[in-house]
Amino acid sequence: MDMLFSHEDLAFREEVRAFFKENLPETVREVVRRTPSYVSKSDMVAWHKALYKRGWIAPAWPVEYGGTGWSVTQRHIFEEEYSANDAPRISGFGITMVGPVIYTFGTQAQKDRYLPSILSGDELWCQGYSEPGSGSDLASLQTRAVLDGDEYVVNGQKIWTSQAHKADLIFCLTRTDPDVKKQEGITFLLIDMKTKGLTVKPIISMDGGHYLNEVFFDDVRVPVENRIGEENKGWTYAKFLLGHERTGIAGVGKSKQKVKKLKQIAEIERAEGGSLLDDHGFKSRISKVEVSLSALEITNLRMMSALAGGGNPGPESSTLKISGTTIEQELNELLVEAMGFYALPYDASMVRPDANEPPVGPDHSVGLMSERLLRRAASIYGGSNEIQRNVIAKAVLGL
Ligand SMILES: Cc1cc2nc3c(=O)[nH]c(=O)nc-3n(C[C@H](O)[C@H](O)[C@H](O)COP(=O)(O)OP(=O)(O)OC[C@H]3O[C@@H](n4cnc5c(N)ncnc54)[C@H](O)[C@@H]3O)c2cc1C
Repeated sequence: MDMLFSHEDLAFREEVRAFFKENLPETVREVVRRTPSYVSKSDMVAWHKALYKRGWIAPAWPVEYGGTGWSVTQRHIFEEEYSANDAPRISGFGITMVGPVIYTFGTQAQKDRYLPSILSGDELWCQGYSEPGSGSDLASLQTRAVLDGDEYVVNGQKIWTSQAHKADLIFCLTRTDPDVKKQEGITFLLIDMKTKGLTVKPIISMDGGHYLNEVFFDDVRVPVENRIGEENKGWTYAKFLLGHERTGIAGVGKSKQKVKKLKQIAEIERAEGGSLLDDHGFKSRISKVEVSLSALEITNLRMMSALAGGGNPGPESSTLKISGTTIEQELNELLVEAMGFYALPYDASMVRPDANEPPVGPDHSVGLMSERLLRRAASIYGGSNEIQRNVIAKAVLGL
C-alpha cells in the first residue's frame, strides 16, 4: 500500500503518529479499546482540545473557518492513524453537523458566536430532530415555535437525543407554520440547553448505558437571532446537515480496527485444540466482510475526492451509510461469536468509564457485547437504512 503514497504523504503519516504518541494517554486508549461509545466527557474534551491546539480538529472545514487544507490522501492517512491509535471519537454534532450549517447559512454574528467554541470544544452540541411520532417521516415534526416579539416560544418534545446530558446547546427543528405543506413550515433554531423550561430525561439503552435522552420544551424562549436562515426554510438546512452526518458514518477506520481485533481473537488457540481460523465457515465470513470493507474504503475515498473539489455530500452519501453500518454490525456479530460462551455473562456496569471490576472472561472480550448491543441501532440512527434505500432509489437511480 505504501507504494501509493508520496514521500510527503509518508512524512505526514509520521508527523501524525508522533502527535498521537505524545498527546494520547495510554489510559484513554484503553477505555476506547474497551468501551468506545462510553469515553468520559472530560477525556473526550481533553482530546478535542489537543487536536484543536494542533489545528487538526476540523479537517473537512474550509481553511478560512479553521479547516486544515489537507489533500484527500492526507485526510485518509489521518483517519487511518486515528483509528489505529484508539483515539476517542470527538462529538460530531458540532464539528460534522451544525458547524457546516452555520458557516454556510449563518449570519456573521452567528459565525462569530458559535464557530470558535465548536472548534475549541468549549461548547458541545446535540441534535434535536426526532420526535416520538416523527423519525423516518421527520418533516411531520410537531415541536411548535411561535414568534412572540423578538423571541420564539418553543413547546414540544424531542427523543433519542444522543448525549443531550453532556451538551451545552441543541440545534432543533421546530414547526412555525402548521398550515402549509409539512416541509415548508419548519424553522431551524439554536437553543441553549440551560434555557428555562428545557428538561433532559435519560433513556437507558439495551446495553445498560446512558447515551440517549428525551428533551422536553415547556415555553422555552429562544431569541430570534438564534434562527438559522429564513423562517419556514429549515428543511433546506436540515437536509444539508443530514448529508454531512451520513458522510462520517462510513466508519472505515473503526471497522478496520475491528477486523484486526477479530483476526487476533480468531487466532487464539482453543482449549480443545486449533483456533477459529481452522473453521472454514467462520474464516470465509471474515474474508467476506473484509472484501466489503475494502470496497467501502474506495467508495469513501472517491466521494472525499469529489467533495475536495468543493461539492457538498449529496444523496450518494446514503450508500456509505448503508454499507458502513452493515459492515460494522456484521463485525460486531462476528466478534461476539468469536468470544464463545464468554459473551453470555454480560455485565452492563462495564460500560461505565469508571468501571474497575475485573472482567468475566479474557481481557479482549470486554466491551464487545456492549458495542454489539448499542450499535444494533447504527442501521436506524442517522436515517434508517430502509429510508436510505428509498433516497437512492429516488434521487440517485431516478426510480
Ligand atoms: C442510538 C440512537 C441514537 C439516535 N440519536 C439521535 C439524535 O441524536 N438526534 C435525533 O434527532 N435523533 C436521533 N435518533 C433517532 C433516529 O434518527 C430515528 O430513530 C430514526 O430516524 C428512525 O425513526 P423512528 O425511530 O421514529 O422509527 P420509524 O420511523 O417509526 O421506523 C420504524 C421502522 O419502519 C421503517 N420505515 C419507516 N418508514 C419507511 C418507509 N417510508 N419505507 C421503508 N421503511 C420505512 C424504518 O426503516 C424502521 O425500520 C437516534 C436513534 C437511535 C436508535
